[in-house]
Amino acid sequence: MFTNSEDFERILSPEQQEEIEEKIEITLRPQCLDHFVGQDNIKEQLAISMKAAQGRDEPIEHVLLYGNPGLGKTTLAGIIAKEMGVNIRVTAGPALERVGDLAAILSNLNRGDVLFIDEIHRMNKTIEEVLYSAMEDYALDIIVGKGPTARTLRMPLEKFTLIGATTKLNLLSGPLRDRFGHVFHLEFYQPHHIEKIINRNAVTLKVNLHESAGKLIASRSRHTPRVANRLLKRIRDYAEVKHDGIISESVANDALTMLNVDQHGLDDVDRKILNTIINMFAGGPVGLNTLSAAIAEEMDTVETIYEPYLIQMGMLERTPRGRMTTKLAHDHLAGD
Ligand code: ADP
Repeated sequence: MFTNSEDFERILSPEQQEEIEEKIEITLRPQCLDHFVGQDNIKEQLAISMKAAQGRDEPIEHVLLYGNPGLGKTTLAGIIAKEMGVNIRVTAGPALERVGDLAAILSNLNRGDVLFIDEIHRMNKTIEEVLYSAMEDYALDIIVGKGPTARTLRMPLEKFTLIGATTKLNLLSGPLRDRFGHVFHLEFYQPHHIEKIINRNAVTLKVNLHESAGKLIASRSRHTPRVANRLLKRIRDYAEVKHDGIISESVANDALTMLNVDQHGLDDVDRKILNTIINMFAGGPVGLNTLSAAIAEEMDTVETIYEPYLIQMGMLERTPRGRMTTKLAHDHLAGD
């Protein structure tokens, strides 16, 4: 089970709480491994590890999930807890400000529970170090007092499973990474997997979706389930207000045009990034800093949300001297 809102309030700031609660919209989130589409190799490894752990009556070893936003890290954490029949506590790296925050959460875990830390790369160093002994020895080393009278107290913890999620594996320190028994990389999804997710969610949302419309939406969803779900909901709104609620291929196409999502799934910001590099910086190379300032977007947003897809599409290159557009980007924008 996911934690309830009172639990969030104790651990997170209002903004973080809202962000994570939005992520945990139960309706479209698969609740078991069988309903989690794609990522077959990860699912197979997880299924085996969970079965083996259950056979030994042990919690599953700590799991690190890394990959771009919206690919299913939070969803998988929820599924692992559900399949193991344990509770999950959800928090995020930046929400853990003091060692006491982490100690309070850890000491409240029951045997086997899952602690999910989103954006684990943004945890501060002191907290990270406390986590080492918690992960390895299931104990908390707390320093009591100051100066020469300071002592370390070791507080035992129940055996638990830490599931960490990150979009930036390279920002995770070696010692933290090494303490995970499983490290899984979630990849962009194949179009037929996205199509399956869209079709399944159309049933959940009780939307009449034509097969060709499902294919079209899938082809413009940036290979990302979260984007597919968002587009499906916006297109449903459009079909209900402008038409009879049925999503045919032409209705989907009109709605996507209205949403400024082009045939490659690029939106306004993607095009702005490419156009800025081409027009202001002669195709690059341009540093991320300068580029973000030129388009008035946060550096982290450009790097985490936009770049990975543009790189995947072969429209952008990351070089040691900065970002460069490719011929494909020029051709695509010229044909716009
Ligand atoms: P992340 O934590 O990686 O940012 P989430 O787990 O929040 O991503 O997933 C975003 C949305 O996409 C969720 O609402 C979930 O319903 C959906 N989703 C993600 N992965 C899958 C999948 N493999 N199958 C079906 N739906 C998925």
